[in-house]
Amino acid sequence: MVITNDDIETLAKKIEQARTALPHITSLINAFSPLMMDKGRWLMEVQEYAKKFTVDPVQYHDGKPLSQQGQLFSPDDPWKSAGLAVARGISLGFPNAARDMTALSSQIADGRLDCYALINLSELQDEAPFASRAAELDIEPEILLLFLRFLGRFMLTKKARDVTAELALLSWAKGYCPVCGSFPHLAILRENGQRWLQCGECSHEWKFSRLQCPHCEHEDPANTSYLFVDGNKEDTAFTCTQCQRYLVTSSRPTELHQTPADLIAITLAHLDIILQEKGFTPMAECEWNTLGSPEL
Ligand SMILES: [Zn+2]
Ligand SMILES: [Zn+2]
Repeated sequence: MVITNDDIETLAKKIEQARTALPHITSLINAFSPLMMDKGRWLMEVQEYAKKFTVDPVQYHDGKPLSQQGQLFSPDDPWKSAGLAVARGISLGFPNAARDMTALSSQIADGRLDCYALINLSELQDEAPFASRAAELDIEPEILLLFLRFLGRFMLTKKARDVTAELALLSWAKGYCPVCGSFPHLAILRENGQRWLQCGECSHEWKFSRLQCPHCEHEDPANTSYLFVDGNKEDTAFTCTQCQRYLVTSSRPTELHQTPADLIAITLAHLDIILQEKGFTPMAECEWNTLGSPEL
């Protein structure tokens, strides 16, 4: 689906509505909404560019996500504009990181820094090469990690969008994402109670059984349930006592203009707090559901 200026305006309105209606999550909205806006604008800007990934239907059918079928990323992808958009979003949402992001942006803009060359560095986050690269770039390691996490998400979202139509023709029965292999951070219940799992990394969504646990594939009504809070029937969390994981879930059967999943996930932060206090772990740990990150 093509992204238009109207879509970007709608996103801005939805963010403002959430900011007004849900004052208890203002800090999360302030932190992550500039990145949401910049991601939308960047995806619109690069939508003409599409270096298509070849999907192997046999491997796909066997549950092998695209990220394990071959290299999703290419050096020709629009890394420079992605890096600049992420740096801008982070500096607006995380004022403490603004200085580091300004320094990084100027290195990206004048070609001294190639974001593609950095992208696999996040896998080394606990190791010495990561810290020394951060020192070379003169930015804090945790801020570099935040930058790389979102840079990866921006590009994965672009890749997922490029193959959405193709994947719609194939069937996928796994609880992890068919594009990038991550577990979902959110589920949305749509028409006829169908459950759509949402990937927090590449923003892909796929249909999945409502009774089965996406994380451990366990299906037993005695060990899985939905937690409701304060009589609110729209926002719940699926819990599985087999693997002690949960999945925040929003029921939106008749929504006219779909709210972006990133925004919905943030509006359910109160459920994350309750579930984590009960000893459950999110199926996908993201900056917006692991407590304390907005104070970065
Ligand atoms: Zn994904
Ligand atoms: Zn489970």
